[in-house]
This record gives sequence, C-alpha cells and structure tokens, in this order.
Amino acid sequence: MTKLTFSGSFTQQEAIPEAGIAAALEVLRSGRLHRYNVAAGEVAAASQLERAYADWQGARYCLAVTSGGQAIQIALRAAGVQTGDVVLTNAFTLAPVPGAIEAVKGQAVLVDIDETLRIDIDDLAAKAEATGAKWLLLSHMRGHVCDMDRLMSVADAAGLTVIEDCAHTMGARWNGAKSGSHGLAACFSTQTYKHMNSGEGGLLTSDDPDFMARATIMSGSYMLFERHGASPGGEHFASARVEQPNLSARLDNLRATILLPQLEALEENIRRWNERYRAVEAQLRRAQMVRVPDRPEAEDMVGSSIQFRVPHLSPDLCRRFVSEAGARGVELKWFGAKEPHGFTSTYESWAYLAPQSAARTLGILGTLFDMRLPLTFSVDDCDVIGRIIAEVAAASADW
Ligand SMILES: *Cc1c(COP(=O)(O)O)cnc(C)c1O
Repeated sequence: MTKLTFSGSFTQQEAIPEAGIAAALEVLRSGRLHRYNVAAGEVAAASQLERAYADWQGARYCLAVTSGGQAIQIALRAAGVQTGDVVLTNAFTLAPVPGAIEAVKGQAVLVDIDETLRIDIDDLAAKAEATGAKWLLLSHMRGHVCDMDRLMSVADAAGLTVIEDCAHTMGARWNGAKSGSHGLAACFSTQTYKHMNSGEGGLLTSDDPDFMARATIMSGSYMLFERHGASPGGEHFASARVEQPNLSARLDNLRATILLPQLEALEENIRRWNERYRAVEAQLRRAQMVRVPDRPEAEDMVGSSIQFRVPHLSPDLCRRFVSEAGARGVELKWFGAKEPHGFTSTYESWAYLAPQSAARTLGILGTLFDMRLPLTFSVDDCDVIGRIIAEVAAASADW
C-alpha cells in the first residue's frame, strides 16, 4: 500500500487581494509613503486603516504601528508599567511577549497554562496574590481564548490591569464579545503569519483616551496626532505631547493600503480557516493516541493553526514523530525541545528572565505539536493532512 503524502507549503500565504495591489501601486506612484505625508484633503491610508479597524473591532481608538511586538511594548509603557514592576504573563507564549516586558524593564512572572493551552486562572489568582502584581499581559497563544468573564472577575478582584496579546485571536470572540475588548488595551499583529498580512505591522486598540494619547505620542506622531484616523481629541494630548518619549514605530501608507482590503475579507477568511481546522480536527479526533484541546462553546475561534498532544511519547519519540510526518510532507512544530527552533521556544530559553518554574506548562509543552493552516490549503488538503498525522500517531504505538 502506498502511503498518503502531502506536498503543499506550510508557509505559503495567499496573494494580497488585487484591490490592495492596485492601491499599493498608487501609493508608490504618489511617493507619499509616510503616514503624515498627505496631499491637501487626503486622508492617509494609515489613518483610514485605524478608522476601519476601530470600527471592525468595536473599539473607540486604534493606533497603527510597525509590529505586534511594538504594540505590546508601547501598551505596557502607556499603561504605566515602571522599572521592576511585576508583569504576569502566560508561561506558554511567543518570544515577543516576554521581550516586550523586558524592554520596559518589567519583571515577567509566568503563569501556568492548563491542558486546553489557556491560562490557568487559579494559578493567575495565586500568583497575583503572591506577587502583588498590578499588570497582566494576557497572551491568547495560538488562538485559545480563556474564560474571559472569569478571568476579568479575578483580575478586577486582584486589581490587575489587563493588556491582551491578540496576535492569534484577531476576529475571535468569547461569549460574543470580540477578543481584545475586555482589557485596557489589545495588541494585534499583521505580520505575514497572522490573520492579515502586511509583512510586518501592528494595531493597538483601547477605549481609554488618555492611554491612547500616550501611546500615540510614543508611536512617533510628532505633533501630528490630529491626522490619525481613530484617535482621542486634542485635549487628551496636553501632557502626553511633552511627557512621552518618541519611540518611532509608525506604520507607513504602503502597508496600510494592502491591509484595507484584507480587513474587508477577514470575516470570510475566518470562516475558511475554521473549515480547514475542523477538517484536520475531525481526523485527529479519530486517532486514539492524539489529544486535541476541546474548544469551549463560548469561544468563537479563528482556526489559523492547530495544536494537539500525543501524551505517551518521550522526547526522542516526539522528534521521530516530527520527522516521520515531515517525510510525508506534513510540517509539524514541537514545543518540547530544549533549544528554541523557529517560533517554538519555551520559557526556559528566555534566559533574561528571572529563574522560575512553571512545571505544569513544561509538562504540557513536552508532547505538544503545532501546525499552521494557511488558506492556500484546500479543505481536502486538510483532510489528507489530518489522515497522515493520525496514521503516524497510530504507528507510534509500536515505536
Ligand atoms: C506574532 C506574535 C506576536 C508579535 O507579533 P510581531 O508582529 O511579530 O511582533 C505577539 N504575540 C504572539 C503570541 C505572536 O504570535
């Protein structure tokens, strides 16, 4: 019997919509790429994007910046994190999250996750009490939204200000409320592997006008904040304009231009991602050795990647699992490696953090696999991919 194989690329995203390409050419021909370089009566694409994204997200304000990581860093500073402040964050997240805490000289304290890959809210309550922390940088890692109602009630009781890292939850919801609408602010990324693709880019949203004024000055608005698309009124800038440092993290019109039509397509793309996720998931759920995290009823997910565990595997067999799936064309990442590989670093390799242990998280990551689901894959492709993984898992029983 010939084995099923797959030959698609796990890193190939879809083309930029033709409307975005045409608009980008116009920006290039105009020469006005800088967001504050506008002709009389013109609204810069960066400002148009801020307006459109604020409306889509249901936020009062939106600021376009150069990356998701910069959005987080600026949000932490604008919220008021001071040198040495404890910032609680998920022990399972991506390197820009602890990196942003380090950049503002905060002290990251890691909170465990549970088997569904969401933050362990009991551990959060315990660590908030033990440290007296005032800040939570909540990372919805790989798109898994925790019980936001319970999280916010624990955060409120503990006096924690919440900043949400929504790099993987742009468009997701909890109990009907958009991910990113619960905390003081939310940070999004438009880097190539997220839900909209401008190569690099970030969006910061909030309903708090003074916070947003500080963030806007930090983004490098010089004194041109009145040209922004979804910005608080000038009266909120009275002190921010002289007190906040310019960190020069502006988004340019070229990237904003290619994001605008992608925003229009986002709801449809979310539907397409979820179709693909469900196709892989259906195969994985039939495989005895494989555990796929349950998705709670209250969560409206965006299935742009899928995670699963094969709990009986040792580290050596996890490596074998990745290589056998890889030999059949299925590119898996494994989060259990001691050394960072691509985006799969664990907190143990962030050596700049104070030593600490999140044993439950390490136990989970030890047998956790991850796979991207680019929209260039068809639903049938995803079915084949799911079957291949299930076959490798079944074979692993005899290794
Ligand atoms: C991608 C990502 C970020 C930051 O995005 P960049 O735009 O690459 O800086 C933050 N958090 C998570 C979980 C991410 O995956």
